[in-house]
Amino acid sequence: MLISVSDRVKLLFSEAGFLFCNCVLVEDDIRTIIDTGADTKSLLEIEPARMDQILYTHHHYDHTRGHRLFTDAQTYIHANDAQAFDSEQEFMYYNSIDRWGELMPGIDYREAAMQMGMEVTEDLVIPIHDYLSDGQVLDLGHTKVEVLHTPGHSAGHCSFWFPDQEFLFTGDICLTNAGPWYGEVLASPDQMLHSIDRLIALKPPRLCSCHTKEIDTDPMGTLQEYKARIYKREERIYRYLKNKPATFNELADQHLIYRMHPTPFVLFWEKLMILKHLERLEKLGMVNHDKYGTFETI
Ligand SMILES: [Zn+2]
Ligand SMILES: [Zn+2]
Repeated sequence: MLISVSDRVKLLFSEAGFLFCNCVLVEDDIRTIIDTGADTKSLLEIEPARMDQILYTHHHYDHTRGHRLFTDAQTYIHANDAQAFDSEQEFMYYNSIDRWGELMPGIDYREAAMQMGMEVTEDLVIPIHDYLSDGQVLDLGHTKVEVLHTPGHSAGHCSFWFPDQEFLFTGDICLTNAGPWYGEVLASPDQMLHSIDRLIALKPPRLCSCHTKEIDTDPMGTLQEYKARIYKREERIYRYLKNKPATFNELADQHLIYRMHPTPFVLFWEKLMILKHLERLEKLGMVNHDKYGTFETI
């Protein structure tokens, strides 16, 4: 479903589940799309073969999966994420799937991925023509869009600011109930906090993310609450450990990040997120662990 932000800037709301994403379409001299992860039917309706360029918010599969339809487009992403598209091995590393065997013993990754709706047989290599950089302003003809490097979710994650339309596209600073996510190898809760602060400082009058279903026209409270969740998660982990020292696996069984673990992937994500928080708590000098992997508060 296409929703107008302005005459030339449109939001393409994906009509499929969380493994797909919303995109921004700019109908201008340089016909541009931000992300290609909407469902195929929605993408086909916007004439993908006529697209001049693709700007990626970040490297995740749910943001790139439709890229093959855009047969004639130049592709751009922040340099910190570009390598994820080089090979299947890099994809595994950037998504921390290379840790699956260690964190999820006895559970087959491919089976779990297919159960979740990922097409794991897809070719994951995507050619990139050039890099996006922070502060870069792209002139699309009548529309300008500024790149804001907002790492945390991934190292190269970018948000996009349309200054004339006063509209912010926050990518996977997702503002859904499940977020924020900062579990993979190059992600970082500290950077996520910093990036959310940056968006708050921009005071956008309206915004949309890649996974929310409408334009938020009063987003300051939304951003503040989203940021506070990071501290709340950390508090739950710290409080649990204060009460009772625990191994990392014992912590993951407490559902301190995600209330439910309906698929192996959610448990995997819980584990990755717990690891990031333990790392942060150790850095802050609030927690340490012994040689058996038991964590306790200091
Ligand atoms: Zn993502
Ligand atoms: Zn996403």
